[in-house]
Amino acid sequence: NEQIVLAKRPEGMPGDDIFRFEDIDINTPGDNELLIESVYISVDPYMRGRMNDTKSYAKPFDIDEPLNGHVLGRVVESNADGFKENDVVTGHLSWKKYNTVSADSVSKVASTEVPLHLYLSTLGMTGHTAYGGLLNIGKPQAGETVVVSAASGAVGSVVGQIAKIKGAKVVGIAGGREKVTYLTEELGFDAGVDYKADDFKEQFAAAVPDGVDVYFENVGGTVSDEVFKHLNRFARIPVCGAISSYNSKEDNGPRVQQQLIKSQALMQGFLVAQFEDEAEEASKQLAQWVQEGKIKSEVSIAEGFDKIPEAFRNLFTGDNFGKQIVKVSDS
Ligand code: NDP
Repeated sequence: NEQIVLAKRPEGMPGDDIFRFEDIDINTPGDNELLIESVYISVDPYMRGRMNDTKSYAKPFDIDEPLNGHVLGRVVESNADGFKENDVVTGHLSWKKYNTVSADSVSKVASTEVPLHLYLSTLGMTGHTAYGGLLNIGKPQAGETVVVSAASGAVGSVVGQIAKIKGAKVVGIAGGREKVTYLTEELGFDAGVDYKADDFKEQFAAAVPDGVDVYFENVGGTVSDEVFKHLNRFARIPVCGAISSYNSKEDNGPRVQQQLIKSQALMQGFLVAQFEDEAEEASKQLAQWVQEGKIKSEVSIAEGFDKIPEAFRNLFTGDNFGKQIVKVSDS
């Protein structure tokens, strides 16, 4: 068995030196426990915050303890009612090749007929984030303009496609031609704007001639400064993330107050966990949209347990395309 522990807290971009690989034993499952082999491990931007020793909604990772997050795995041995060998499960587990955990800490996937990695993206936490934040806070109406940043990513791509289903005009912001083209050609967005292009401001202004009614915020920083200039009266801004600042030591400070006042806009931060009550409904609806081909998604699969640190960094360099996961077993 192998695990990855946090060797020290990163400054800026997490280098290889903050991750330590360790050989460990496999524990035999006790009463009501399962031995689970990890198949796919999810790397997510919020984990960067947990690497810092600062108080936040999620407890910091401990030094010398295994990192953890969403994992999809197969049951190798079951000592619990309701689970048998080969069941496919997801849960919040340690970054280990094999986890021995209480059966209560995982759930079986709803169906094994879909690509299983979807349970770590569209049919999992990131899909629920998009669904909950957009529909509860953004409340897009037919004909309105919805803008989403990190638009080709795990959350952003689903946000844009749900907004299309709701009849909105959708503008996605992403880095580079390939991602922007994907938004319009593959996902059916009305426009894609490349924030890395020299004429980003002009491109963006041209893409939102009627202003912005909903801005689903994933990145913060200078990209958002530009979007805020175009807010319509009573715009809604679900604040999902601000990835541009996660590796930064500077205080980027809020600088949207003037725009919020001018547009009487509503800006609300959220955590996916707050929509737990509607999780079942969201899962069903997302699964139906995926089955009907209304929601497509891209996935970047890194191969091998040793690729986890690199895959994690991809989230901050943009080297991922869609949901970034790591395949750690062929089973
Ligand atoms: P993505 O799949 O979108 O991957 C991250 C993407 O962010 C990269 O591909 C990159 O795309 C973009 N990015 C990275 N650095 C910058 C930068 N400096 N400026 C602009 N864009 C940048 O990740 P997720 O879908 O998992 O997460 C998206 C956002 O949602 C994050 O902010 C995350 O923290 C947040 N989140 C919040 C949750 C909540 O409960 N509130 C739950 C889950 C996610 P590009 O190549 O286009 O630059």
